[in-house]
Amino acid sequence: HVFGYRDFSAQAKIDQQFLAVPSAKLAGEELKTLTAAPHIAASKEDYDTAVYVAGKFKAAGLETSIVPYKAWLNLPKEISVTATDDATGKTLMHGPTREHVEGDPYQDDPRVTPGFNGSSPSGDVTAEVVYANYGRPEDFDRLAALHIDVKGKLVIVRYGANFRGVKVYVAQQRGAAGVIIYSDPADDGYYRGDKYPNGPYRPDTGVQRGSVQYMFKYPGDATTPGIASTPELPASKRIDPATAASMPRIPSTPLSYHDAAPILENLGGPSAPREWQGALPFNYHLGGTGVKVHMLLKQDYAMRTIWDVIGKIPGTELPDEWVVAGNHRDAWVYGAVDPNSGTAAMLESVHGIGELLHQGWKPKRTVIFASWDAEEEGLIGSTEWAEDHANQLAHAVAYFNTDVGVSGPSFESAAVPSLKQFVRDVTKEVPSPKGGSVYEQWKAEQAANGSRHHVNNGFNERHGHANVDNDVEIGDLGSGSDYTPFIQHLGVPSTDIGSDGPYGVYHSVFDNYAWFIKNADPTFVYEQQQARVFGLEVLHMADTDVLPYDYVTYGKEIEAYIEAAKKKAADAQLSSIDFSEATAAAQKFTSAAEAAYSRQTAESGNPTHLNSELRQVEGDLLSSAGLPNRPWFKHTIYAPGEYTGYAAVVIPGVNEAIDAKDVSRAQTQMATLTAALTRATSTLESAAK
Ligand code: GLU
Ligand code: CA
Ligand code: ZN
Ligand code: ZN
Repeated sequence: HVFGYRDFSAQAKIDQQFLAVPSAKLAGEELKTLTAAPHIAASKEDYDTAVYVAGKFKAAGLETSIVPYKAWLNLPKEISVTATDDATGKTLMHGPTREHVEGDPYQDDPRVTPGFNGSSPSGDVTAEVVYANYGRPEDFDRLAALHIDVKGKLVIVRYGANFRGVKVYVAQQRGAAGVIIYSDPADDGYYRGDKYPNGPYRPDTGVQRGSVQYMFKYPGDATTPGIASTPELPASKRIDPATAASMPRIPSTPLSYHDAAPILENLGGPSAPREWQGALPFNYHLGGTGVKVHMLLKQDYAMRTIWDVIGKIPGTELPDEWVVAGNHRDAWVYGAVDPNSGTAAMLESVHGIGELLHQGWKPKRTVIFASWDAEEEGLIGSTEWAEDHANQLAHAVAYFNTDVGVSGPSFESAAVPSLKQFVRDVTKEVPSPKGGSVYEQWKAEQAANGSRHHVNNGFNERHGHANVDNDVEIGDLGSGSDYTPFIQHLGVPSTDIGSDGPYGVYHSVFDNYAWFIKNADPTFVYEQQQARVFGLEVLHMADTDVLPYDYVTYGKEIEAYIEAAKKKAADAQLSSIDFSEATAAAQKFTSAAEAAYSRQTAESGNPTHLNSELRQVEGDLLSSAGLPNRPWFKHTIYAPGEYTGYAAVVIPGVNEAIDAKDVSRAQTQMATLTAALTRATSTLESAAK
């Protein structure tokens, strides 16, 4: 029996009809078509992929439109980095070197844009170089303790540990003149395993492009926080990019380890600490002397048009309750894994649902499939559409995301706690190519390897979170993909899914079809699996009688978050912060959730009132003021960390105030959290009546 349906056997039949349709072979063909050319956001080739996806949506019977937005975007006009030896004046490196390996059939296309950072300003900086490890606040603190000054210097940092925009944000706060972000072979190169074309890891010249937008302030178009950047929006309604809080003020650019090695090898100054050493074959130094770099970046900024593709199936009974499922379509280059493995899976989900429509089925709730544009530059297509439809989304019942759909065979998910059991239930119905169900394989792998939560940075990073329900672990939603505007700005219950494996070519030219069929999913059976999981999420949520939100787990997780924050405050000698009211409010939330849960699982009664109350609970967890200094982020339980970016910070108002050792802010944020929990509790109590 699956939670939420009053007549599960009828639904089980529809599920079986659906599951029979998604095709591995077609997914492979769709992936090949989507990745035939580089298709960066706002390019002609990007528009061509929009037309292709729209054609597939229409063929399946969806009411389809291509929806344009305008965004402040940069493309690289000229990118150059030149390193010289301080003592001799000799040129050590002049790059960036074009990405190249033996035999890759895609690398020489003239439409490939060189490595650059989305949202970096132009710049012309000549300065000494300092190595700052991952560019975390504690890394800069360590440099300061060692009397290495970063003011006016170019800072070189390695990828890993946080979102690249955070590295630039911290470097800017500490007075650096610019940032070079390089891929160390320890992170995703030969230190991990064989490099492409012999294996899945990053080759010497592979560059990780990426946005450095301060998306932890707000994502989307930099000129329109909180409002939709439609083509009609007058310029007077936009803010000046020069003052936009999401735009970095110092220039940055990414480098391969081929190009970073001569800089790092020649740095003077003291030896870098043991934990700061990477996998290049020399001892790393902190710099400040030894190497001067000239970084010249000419960015071509303009308001550019991007295109979301939106396909709708009106609901027959509850048309105002939207179920939205989305994946981005734009790629830094070809994007075979990121994002088009997700797009191909989504197209096969749509294919399956189209078959049901042809057989006469119609959803109870309105289903919307979305192919987002300009995710890579800062979640722009999804954010603008979400801001555009904020009123309708206030009662949308779910947002389902997939981004890196398939990079290998290990299923992973992140979700709001209320939908964790829902995701597990869906995966119990889908067969795994390895035998048994997706759920069984997922559980067995986690038992063997521990959980490796899916994070949209090409890797699986372990997030701390409260495992209160003793089942397969599902991560917390931080940021780095398109669920952010839905859950963190609008309070739409959200999930993210992917099938992961070793993936060292993230955001490089080598994330292409040739890499994919060698390393990720040669027969596209994981594409088929993901199409089935994604489609079943939509079908179940569209037709369920009782909304299957599990607020008991949510409450227990919140209790655990508060407990952990209390311990952290005590450890930091901040024992004057009073947690008692928040703790009591969370316990009341859990009790009320238990009563509501009994109502949800009861077999009779009209669930209309119950459902609307249940949906309201997530909305109650928003605070209208939002987080201090980043009011766009309204959720009181989850936000991307200001100093992590990808990883979630839980009860962010409280935790970030504790981190800043700001007792009075912590107390105000505690009151905001308590008020949100109290609102949600009274809604749950009313749902239980
Ligand atoms: N997926 C993109 C990245 O990781 C998101 C960029 C952003 O959130 O600004 O680079
Ligand atoms: Ca906007
Ligand atoms: Zn992506
Ligand atoms: Zn990406």
